[in-house]
Order: sequence, then structure tokens, then C-alpha cells
Amino acid sequence: MLQDAVERIKGVGEKTAALFHKMNIYTKEDLLEDFPISYLQYPKLCPISEAREKEWMAFSLVLLEDARVLRNTKLSMLQCSAADESGKLLIQYFHASYLLKTLKKGRKLVFFGQVKSFRGHLILQQPKIFSLEEYEEKRKSLEPIYSLRKGLGNALRRKCIQEIFKEEPKILESFPRDFLEKEGLCNKKQAMEYLHLPKREEERQEGLKRLAFEELFYYSLFLEKEERDFLSLSGNEEKIPGKREEFQKGLPFSLTKAQSEALEEMDRVFSQGERLLRFVQGDVGSGKTILAFYVLFLMASKGFQTAIMVPTEILAQQHFQKLQKLLEENQWEIPIALLIGSSSKKEKERIYQGLKEGSILGVIGTQALIQEGLAFSHLKMLVIDEQHRFGIQERNRLEKKGENPHCIYLSATPIPRSLVKLLYGAVPYLLLSEKPANRLPIKNALFSPADREKAFSFIKKELDKGRQAYIICPLVEENENLSVESVTAYQKNLKQYFGKDYSFAVLHGKMKAGEKEQVMQDFSSGKTRILLSTTVVEVGVDVANATVMLIENAERFGLAQLHQLRGRVGRSELQSYCIFMDHKEDEKSQKRLSIIRDSNDGFAIAKEDLALRGPGDLFFGERQSGPLQFRFADPLRDEELFFKAREAAKTLLEEDALLERPEHQGIKEIFQSLLTESA
Ligand code: ADP
Ligand code: MG
Repeated sequence: MLQDAVERIKGVGEKTAALFHKMNIYTKEDLLEDFPISYLQYPKLCPISEAREKEWMAFSLVLLEDARVLRNTKLSMLQCSAADESGKLLIQYFHASYLLKTLKKGRKLVFFGQVKSFRGHLILQQPKIFSLEEYEEKRKSLEPIYSLRKGLGNALRRKCIQEIFKEEPKILESFPRDFLEKEGLCNKKQAMEYLHLPKREEERQEGLKRLAFEELFYYSLFLEKEERDFLSLSGNEEKIPGKREEFQKGLPFSLTKAQSEALEEMDRVFSQGERLLRFVQGDVGSGKTILAFYVLFLMASKGFQTAIMVPTEILAQQHFQKLQKLLEENQWEIPIALLIGSSSKKEKERIYQGLKEGSILGVIGTQALIQEGLAFSHLKMLVIDEQHRFGIQERNRLEKKGENPHCIYLSATPIPRSLVKLLYGAVPYLLLSEKPANRLPIKNALFSPADREKAFSFIKKELDKGRQAYIICPLVEENENLSVESVTAYQKNLKQYFGKDYSFAVLHGKMKAGEKEQVMQDFSSGKTRILLSTTVVEVGVDVANATVMLIENAERFGLAQLHQLRGRVGRSELQSYCIFMDHKEDEKSQKRLSIIRDSNDGFAIAKEDLALRGPGDLFFGERQSGPLQFRFADPLRDEELFFKAREAAKTLLEEDALLERPEHQGIKEIFQSLLTESA
């Protein structure tokens, strides 16, 4: 039974079970659902002359001497030198006297490990040892790597999975057999086995293809349905005359041509009584927010409600303040509210009441907007900002709170036009193709940690001019196992360097909402000059006076994410700068980061990124932050598969629009559970 507790697996005792529980793994099924984050394929053997520092490589070597224990070292260290025709290197182990028997002069063995160098010697520390035959065999297989916790190694994970598959688990298959055959897909159980226990790369690919197809198929099914509903509903809306001139007069800047055209198009749709659905794409900083404010302004003039949903509390607070300011300055009396998870109970009650009665006309919020109990009196307009951060369930749940509301989805994700059609179906596409005038391209640099002083002194120069700076670290707290910068540990660097002259504040996701708000406010107003933050500022945050950003451990972020982060600067006519700090500095990371150093264009970056990521390089591990909330599929990489899934969904609905046939019950069940699943 897949619902069995993990304790029921042979070899899993109480202690191991407790460790699994910490990872939210309670049942066999949970274990199966926790997929490897990557796969190791052992590399080809390589001559020493081609060894590259920091890379993981394998060498076939002859030992030049018996291994010996080095004196005078605190750690008990074992060392021996080894060679091939092209060169020599040193092999070292700690606390490994049991290897003395193995490492004997004249033996020929394969060593796999990370290449280091010390005082002119090449060194392999703690390499894995194989015989030549063993290694050749290993090379044919793939080793899954799971996200690790202390005490739960890969070997154990693998054994558990093997045990589960031994019992012939009943893994539900929702697709009929001839459907699978027609699409050339393996069944679900097979796919899961391929991903966990692939014997060869082809198997892994096949398993992945099946699961990606499934995701894309249900996504397509949703779109197909939406499209059908939409077509049957359009054209019966109340006509709303445009007000863009009045709106423009109230703004502190004149709209870009792209923004004006977007407003014009929306006015046309509203004034003809059609339903407005638009997917708005515009690179970071192209000024998408103003479209959200305009539709809210327009709807309010008719007494209709608008909801703007954003992915983070910081962004919700910022939008709310900006909108409030705009309304106040123009004496536009539109009652608006801010609703986030951490709003006080009393405040929430007030807002719930106001939305239900209709006394609040605009609400800006996070996922708090899709809570069960929240109802609107006449929600007519929906804006989803940074829409790629939301799944279709969330979008769907918010839509259900109104009666076929108008919707606009805002996103900076660079997706090619052909894909937009697959991803957004009937939803027409609107491109904000330009940034406000007078924006200078951001100047970028790629630094190594050794140059940190230099980076700081550059930042200081900007601060001296009255500007502000962001410094981004990947972690909140120090992690002894990872040599990655954390905001907590980094503070002392800043104190040392900027302490006397400039104030800084810390921001991360674990802080309380009130604290985050205060920090953001102080930074927006210029009271704090440096913001030391995690990626919580990644989307949307807008402080025009900030002109320089330093990103530590840039190698740990996806390029799309770096592009978004960088979008926090370059938001005014001031020259802005971004420094990417590469802590890895191997060939691969340098190549990747040089893409973002050399381009400020989101589309171009996405394209090169894709080309660089071979089909073997998944980004499983960062899935949650990956585009569009797919776990297995990558719409960019899988465009062809996406087309097929879309076709399959269309055909299915043409044959059986209500999914009533018995052979489609499995599909129907999954589809419905996807739509109602709590977010
Ligand atoms: P994004 O598309 O990334 O969401 P925003 O809507 O946050 O961009 O806009 C970025 C910045 O540019 C904001 O400070 C905004 O006030 C400003 N802005 C927007 N439109 C214009 C414009 N037409 N002229 C000058 N500044 C603008
Ligand atoms: Mg934005």
C-alpha cells in the first residue's frame, strides 16, 4: 500500500523515520513523490594533463608509492602520489587508515573526485576508488541525487525506493492504454521507476517525458475549457467608457507609447461591452503596474470592484502605498484596502465586511485573497501581477469569486510568442515593448570574491552621490555545510566597511510582515541607504533612487531570476550598475554568468540560457521558483511536447466535452482535483 508509513519499509527504523518526517515524508507515496534533484553520470576518464581545477573528474592512475600516513597534521591524513603518462598528482584521504591495504605501489585504479591544487601540486581529496571494469560499468548508469539531510544519504534513499518497487506498488494511471500508445508514452508507474532508478539516460528521459506530458496535458485541458467558456460568454458586459485622459493628467509622468496603446486597447474592449482578458508581457521596469491602477480607477467609476493579486507581502504593501498616494494626490475618492496573510484579525474582518458589502472598491493582496471565506459584492476586474508565480488553481479560485470578471495577467517572464499561445490559449497578448524614455542600460560586471573590497568601494562611490544600494545573499542564516553568503553573517562585512558612514537594514522572508514593511519604508524613503536582502526583493520592488546592486553567490541563481533581481535597479534616469559575484568561478559558471553580464534583454538571456542547459541539466531542485509552477515540464525546453499535449487535450474535449465516457473517468477525476486542490 502506498499509504503505508515509511516505517513499514524494510530497513527503516524509528530513527530514520523521524528524519523522513522532518522532510515531510510520512508514507511510501511521499517518498515516491520526492524526486531526485539531479543525476550524477560519471565522466569519461581523462589524462592528468587535462585536469581542470575545481572540476569533478576521473583518472586511471598507477600508484607510484605505498600510501603513507602523514605526520605533523592534526587530521590523520593519508597520502600517496599517482601518475599516468601525462602527469602526476597527489591523492589524499582523512581518517582512512583502512585504505593502506588498497593503495599499494604499482596498482592501477580509477579515482573520481574534485580536482584541487596546492603549492603547485594537483590534488584529489577523498576520491572514490574503482577498478577499471567497475568504473566502465558505473559509466553506463546514472546515479540519482536526492536533496540530502543529515543521516539520510543517497544510498539509503535508493534502497527504500527499491524496496517499494519490489512490492509492485499500485500507482494510479489516469490515461487509457490506447491514449498512451498513441502518444508514445510509458505508463505512470514505469515513469516513476525510470526517474528514481534509471539504468540509462534514455530511461530517465522517457520517465521525465511522460510526467512532463501529463502536466502539460492537464494545463492544456484547463485552457481548452476556459477558452470554450470564454467564447460562450463574451459580448454581454456593461459598456464602460474610457477615462484615460483624466487618468494621464493625474500621473507624475507621461505614459510611454506602449502604455498608451495598452490603455487604448483596453478602453476599446470595455466601451464595446466585451470581456477583457489580456496577458500583458513586459520586461522588468517597463511600467506594467500602471495598467493595474488604470483598470481599478476605471472600474471604480462604475462602482465595480477590482482585486490585484501579487506574490509577496512586500510587493502588496508597495503597490498599496503607491496607489494610495496616487489617489490622494488627485483627490480621487476610491476606497481601497490591503489584505495580506499577516493583516491583523480585526483588519481582516473589516476588509471582509467591506468587500462583501461593496464599500471597498479596490483590494491589493497576496494569496490571502483566495481564502475560502472571502466574498465580494461585485468583483468585476482581476489583475494578477507576476502571474508566473501563481498556479492555475490560484488563478481559478480568484476568478470564481467574481462573475466572469475581466482579467489581466502581468508578467515579465520572457516567453516567445509561439509559447504564449500554448500557455495562455485564448487570452490575447499585449506586449509592453519599451521602457520609459531616458532609461540608461544597466552596466554590469562579473567579480570574484577576492574583489569584494573593490565592489564595496564602488558601491560607496554611488552612496556618496546620494544613491542607494542593494546587496543580495542567497541565505538567511549561515549554513556550516555550505559556503554560501547569508544576510546574517554578511552584516559584519557591511558594519566594517560602511559602518561609520552609511546605514543598512536587513530584509528576508522570515521576518514579520510589520518589520518587513518598516524596513521597506525606510529604504524607499532613503532613510536606510543599503538594503541587505535575500531574494524576497526579486519581484516588483521599486525604489528609483537605488542604482547599484551586488549579488553574492550569483552562480546559485537561475539567469531568469538574476535578470529579475537586477531589475530592481535601473528604474529611473540615473545610470545603474549590477555586480555579479561568482563564488564558483569554474568554466561553466563563468560562461553562464557572462550571458547576463553581456545582456540586459530578458528574451535574449532566456534563449541563451536554454541553449546552455543541455537536456540532462534539469532544474528540478529550483522547481518551486521555476517558471509557471511546473514540476517536470519546462515549457521552453518542451515546446514540442507542449504542442502535442495541447492537441491531445483538444481532441479529447472534441470527442467527449464533459468527460463522461468511462475510459475518461481517471482523467476527469484528476482534472477536478487539480482545480479544487487547496493552494
Ligand atoms: P514593472 O513593469 O517592472 O512592473 P513598474 O510598473 O514597477 O515596472 O514601473 C517601474 C518604475 O517606472 C516605477 O517607478 C514607475 O513609477 C515608473 N514608470 C512607469 N511608467 C513610467 C513612465 N511612462 N515614465 C516614467 N516612469 C514610469
Ligand atoms: Mg511589476
